[in-house]
Amino acid sequence: MTSSPLKRIDAARDDLVALTRDLIAIPTLNPPGRDYAAICSYLDTRLSASGFDTTWVRAEGAPGDSEAHPRWNLIARHDGARSGDCVHFNSHTDVVEIGKGWTRDPFGGTVEGDRIYGRGACDMKGGLAASIIAAEAFIAEHPDYQGAIEISGTADEESGGYGGVAHLAERGWFDPARVQHVIIPEPLGKDRICLGHRGGWWAEIETRGEIAHGSMPFLGDCAIRHMGAVLQAFEDRLFPAMAARLTDMPVVPDGARQSTMNINSVHGGQPEQATGDTGLPAHCVPDSCRIVVDRRFLMEEPVDGVRQEVIDLLEDLKSRRPNFDYEIRELNRVTPSMTDKTAPVVQTVHAAIEDVFGHAPGYVASPGSYDQKHIDRIGRLRNCIAYGPGILELAHKPDEWVGITDMLDSAKVMARTLEKLLLP
Ligand SMILES: [Zn+2]
Repeated sequence: MTSSPLKRIDAARDDLVALTRDLIAIPTLNPPGRDYAAICSYLDTRLSASGFDTTWVRAEGAPGDSEAHPRWNLIARHDGARSGDCVHFNSHTDVVEIGKGWTRDPFGGTVEGDRIYGRGACDMKGGLAASIIAAEAFIAEHPDYQGAIEISGTADEESGGYGGVAHLAERGWFDPARVQHVIIPEPLGKDRICLGHRGGWWAEIETRGEIAHGSMPFLGDCAIRHMGAVLQAFEDRLFPAMAARLTDMPVVPDGARQSTMNINSVHGGQPEQATGDTGLPAHCVPDSCRIVVDRRFLMEEPVDGVRQEVIDLLEDLKSRRPNFDYEIRELNRVTPSMTDKTAPVVQTVHAAIEDVFGHAPGYVASPGSYDQKHIDRIGRLRNCIAYGPGILELAHKPDEWVGITDMLDSAKVMARTLEKLLLP
């Protein structure tokens, strides 16, 4: 069926493109957490003009919050003519660093054919723009609806969400008594429903040695060689064990349906020389080497087991390798989250996707976590999914883009979802 909000969305194509380009043009890089006030101000102006009441919340005391880089969040709410459920669209406003390899201006919002290019185009300013267009079209068509619509723009998702959704959830913004349905327009694809995400465990491991003259390494103890033994143990035992562990979660892409681990960084010995420094290094045996590991795990794995598996390998090395010692420091942990397929928001978006595309949605789970974890664990709100336009694999890449048609189609699914949830 074609309901009128869908026609309004087609007519709003130019508005959608302009809105997306405006959002991309605000360089909300995180770190350090730039321009949150600027993007909140932009959203405030836009949504106030559409009849929303807005609230600004600064996550004071959150990691990274400072006078130079305040963690501002904006929540906009529109109440219908009668009471009913509240549907909340949550988008993070931050984007990751630009990185190398761009052939377009990362903040230029270049339009080429059906694509808009820019850092954050798909992750996730395109999704934010689609949700705004959807809500505006729905409200214009059905001013007498029952319930409420909220749209939030939140900080710091790319660095864990502590200055954004976690902060809001701790203060009751995602209490199931005030919000009943949450849709996070992350770029999972316009005809797919993302039920949740894998867990994450981050730790720093340090091996110790003893400094000595580089010409007589036998008088010292090389911490980097000890770390080499750690990395070899990972290669021989941990990576094969993880690869053999498959989840029932519908994680995409396929390679992430197993447990994975990235070695984020390795640092040992003297610091790298500054560019342009022509001095030669001193000759020393390194007495410390550190790595940071990023372990992503499955619903089927308890986080304490994930941690213990690494410690067991290190303890085994300690028992076998002369002078081997280590320290491990947990940096962060995130538990997996999975919303049940029978949850109302899942069923409703499923039906809306069938309405718009004429076929059933695919069900997926995200390889990396997103703000659903805080809505689930802190807010205790389990009726939450990610649904939005964009190709997940483009996130954080150079020449990131979002498709205009995909945004329009997603906005239609969102508007149909609102009709199903908020009309009598
Ligand atoms: Zn994102």
